Amino acid sequence: MNDLRNMINGESVDPVNGRWLDNLEPATGASLGRVAASDADDVELAWRAAENARADWDACGGTQRGRWLHRLADAVEADLEELARLESIDNGKPVSLSRTVDIPRAVANLRFFADAADEDRSRRYRTGSEATNVVHRDPVGVVGLISPWNLPLYLFTWKIAPALAAGNTVVAKPSELTPVTATRLGELASEIGFPPGVLNIVHGLGSEVGEAIVDHPGIPAISFTGGTATGARIASRAAPRFKKLSLELGGKNPNIIFEDADLDRAMATSLRSSFANQGQICLCGSRILVQRSVHDRVVDALVEGAGRLRIGDPLDDETQQGALVSADHRDKIASCVDRAREEGGEVLCGGRIPSSLPDRCRGGYFYEPTVITGVPMDGATNQEEIFGPVVTVTPFDDEEEAIRLANATDYGLSASVWTASEERASRIADAIDAGTVWINCWLLRDLRVPFGGVKHSGVGREGGEEAMHFFTEAKTVCTAEGTTS
Ligand code: NAD
Repeated sequence: MNDLRNMINGESVDPVNGRWLDNLEPATGASLGRVAASDADDVELAWRAAENARADWDACGGTQRGRWLHRLADAVEADLEELARLESIDNGKPVSLSRTVDIPRAVANLRFFADAADEDRSRRYRTGSEATNVVHRDPVGVVGLISPWNLPLYLFTWKIAPALAAGNTVVAKPSELTPVTATRLGELASEIGFPPGVLNIVHGLGSEVGEAIVDHPGIPAISFTGGTATGARIASRAAPRFKKLSLELGGKNPNIIFEDADLDRAMATSLRSSFANQGQICLCGSRILVQRSVHDRVVDALVEGAGRLRIGDPLDDETQQGALVSADHRDKIASCVDRAREEGGEVLCGGRIPSSLPDRCRGGYFYEPTVITGVPMDGATNQEEIFGPVVTVTPFDDEEEAIRLANATDYGLSASVWTASEERASRIADAIDAGTVWINCWLLRDLRVPFGGVKHSGVGREGGEEAMHFFTEAKTVCTAEGTTS
């Protein structure tokens, strides 16, 4: 692959400092080429371009902005197969997943907010016979968007689309670990003649580019998705600058299975919610809580299912488990499993690097799907996000205990509940600390509904109107009745 440059003012440019990072292919460990190691100077150039483009982009109106976003969606859709291949190479995820989930969802994000761009969000309120209030929603300005590596183009477009739809211009930073499809998105925007300066993409490390975006005095809003510790650091820097912040952070989500559930359905979905994308989805149900009467059945089915998952070259259509994103991340996961053993956990399957891999993948960062039982709920294994193909299974006796265990972490992103009882489902949904509770399903997403977490899983909500509100400022104009004509 070519060098991955920044996209500033519609042009592909080298980083000012001339520095580059190596971009590695997770499935092989081989170099894919270089990515710009930008810093505050590049962020400044990107901001200037965005600032210059801002007034025209706002003035062109929602209908026109929507047309541009649909054209970008068309371009991504036309390039779907190639983007899916690139995502798989860059991230290590199975190409079947990037072809059916990641890239189609990027298209859907762009189209959803393209349509939302056109809607009138102003509101009018009469105050008795005294006054009329009109609430306008204006774009915030130049916004900073920072995204992670697990769903690269999917989450990058999830931020870019509403920001642009609302009339902002953008300085966006993809993860330095997965910069390829974001670069391609910038190229596609340029190829279709997207107005220069509206979408600027700056590559590099979080400590350099990310912090420069967060610190920049001309960027009044930051939308961030990533780890909780990074979110805390960003919040501490942004707060004294009074920036708007949306933080989508980590999770340690409970997947609660009751004895009255349709167990076949629960287990088929639980296999996905445990190991999809090698467990590297913030919504994965990494803590499986099972009613004691069906505990052994569930564990057996999970272990059997995990053993059947085909681990292999992400570019092979048959592969179900690809590589982890980096050697560091693979090592971190391995050390979490060692720690679980020290906590008294029993590793029922996985817990090691696979011994047989295709020749091309011998140097890649693979890890077997792993099921652990017997770890305490207050131990590190059940408290800290592992973000890999590792789940714990813990028995419970009754509803009360299930709720207590489900809420027994600092996180609160999502939960799944498996039961045939509508009343129980509703009681549990009420009692669980989470932004989303799925009943008898997982990862069903309607782009209109709010998405986000409570406790250490985040601040604010994305999706639908919530995103359009985040990327706009309300301004109330109150006119005394009968004073103007
Ligand atoms: P990360 O926090 O390491 O990095 C995320 C992004 O922030 C990257 O682009 C990185 O370069 C940048 N960054 C790092 N340090 C920064 C700093 N000091 N200032 C500004 N930017 C900085 O996270 P990651 O490892 O890329 O992603 C995995 C994490 O993301 C997991 O915790 C996962 O749960 C979370 N995640 C959350 C959601 C959600 O919607 N809640 C979705 C996906 C991933």
